[in-house]
Amino acid sequence: MQLQHFVNGKMLGGENLFEIVNPSTAETITHAPLASPDVVDAAVRAARGASATWGDQTPGYRAAALLELAQAVENDLGHLLDLEVANAGLPITPYADDLAWGVDVIRYTAGAARVVEAPAAGEYISGCTSMVRREPLGVVCCIAPWNDPLLLALTKLAPALATGNTVVLKPAPNTPMTAVRLAELAADILPPGVLNVVLGGQPTGEALLEHPGIDAVAFTGSVDTGKRIAEMAARTLKKTVLELGGKSPVVVFADSNMERIAETISGLGFYSAGQNCIAATRVLVEESARDELVQHLTKRAQALIVGDARSPETTLGPLISARQRENVEGFLNRREPHVEIVTGGGRPAGLTGFFLEPTIVTGLREGDEMAREEIFGPVQTVETFRDEDEVVRRANANRFGLGASVWTHDGARGLRVARGIKAGSVWVNTHAAVATELPFGGFKASGYGREFGASLDEFTGTKHVGISLEE
Ligand code: NAD
Repeated sequence: MQLQHFVNGKMLGGENLFEIVNPSTAETITHAPLASPDVVDAAVRAARGASATWGDQTPGYRAAALLELAQAVENDLGHLLDLEVANAGLPITPYADDLAWGVDVIRYTAGAARVVEAPAAGEYISGCTSMVRREPLGVVCCIAPWNDPLLLALTKLAPALATGNTVVLKPAPNTPMTAVRLAELAADILPPGVLNVVLGGQPTGEALLEHPGIDAVAFTGSVDTGKRIAEMAARTLKKTVLELGGKSPVVVFADSNMERIAETISGLGFYSAGQNCIAATRVLVEESARDELVQHLTKRAQALIVGDARSPETTLGPLISARQRENVEGFLNRREPHVEIVTGGGRPAGLTGFFLEPTIVTGLREGDEMAREEIFGPVQTVETFRDEDEVVRRANANRFGLGASVWTHDGARGLRVARGIKAGSVWVNTHAAVATELPFGGFKASGYGREFGASLDEFTGTKHVGISLEE
């Protein structure tokens, strides 16, 4: 596949070619250009140029175009899935549902943008009729990460477009393939300039942030990059929506069914090799149930099928890159003396890609590095606690606040802990239950702003129009 930028409705070649690698094999599959400031400028100008016309269209017109795009994506799902699996190393069988979810995100936002709400027009001020309009922000820059490339691009660009903004999308430099395919599909559906795609890494991202033609930035990625984006965006007061890292505590009380919990959180901990912002990888279990849970988690981890992401049997694929694998190995190598690797920790034999064995680590104490920091790899850690107050305090003694789950048969306790944990999503007796209609996002260092169900508000601004009733 030839990878090019997509500017003003046309594919645009470029220089500075960057190697695109299949993480399952470590082989180069193609090359992508890195956008220079000139290409960025052309993309932003195209988006600005299309902004007034697209923003003036009726919500119904925009919805029709987006529904057509959703259909084109759905018709192309098999091809998109092959590209994503080869490029991002996401195992094909479990990942198929995630990709299909992207179609639902386009359809939902297309419809929801037709029924935005505001206070009823009325005389809130004596002698003056007021109406509240919701207007697009203008040009939105969407910056996506490598761990779920197409879905996390769609969660930004679909609501931005549906509410009348135009978009410049920048995928992660190493996972551009589905973004380029999306552009090819959009070329016949959206007017030129409405959606633009520029390929590149940090310099391209910073050229976008510095560009005066961008009004808002929607970003998913690491905390450090999020801070940098917020700082740069502040210089020109661009609005920012930041979906950053996570370290989701999984709080397990001894009255729960350990086998069932292990089944659920093993799947959600090792999904995408733990490279997921709400991965169920930090387990806090009540002391008396520790041995039973560790036994079940170990059995589940050892049963995972590690292999090429393209194989339908694979349940644990590779990490995204050699560097990411080294990052994860660094956590394991630096572990405190009391921390024990129960299973895994090494590189599986006979595989050329960036694989790491599914790993279970126990004995962690409060404040240990692996209990504190996002590992973003196939490593599930287990800590123990004595009572409810202690576990709520420890779940919160962390800079992140994205997701959390609590497992107990005591309904009131489940609710108390859910109230006590500061996170954008807290699940009781389940984990990672996310739906298109519901808000998703973080507190604290996990960022601000909300995606999925709450995303339409992020890309519009209210305008109060007050009309005097005097002649
Ligand atoms: P990253 O921060 O390195 O990169 C993300 C994107 O930002 C890439 O497109 C990159 O090219 C771009 N970028 C990097 N520096 C930039 C700069 N200075 N200016 C503009 N753009 C810049 O993150 P990553 O390693 O690709 O993604 C993994 C991180 O994303 C993890 O921390 C993970 O938890 C987080 N994540 C969060 C969510 C969420 O919804 N909260 C979802 C998935 C991933």
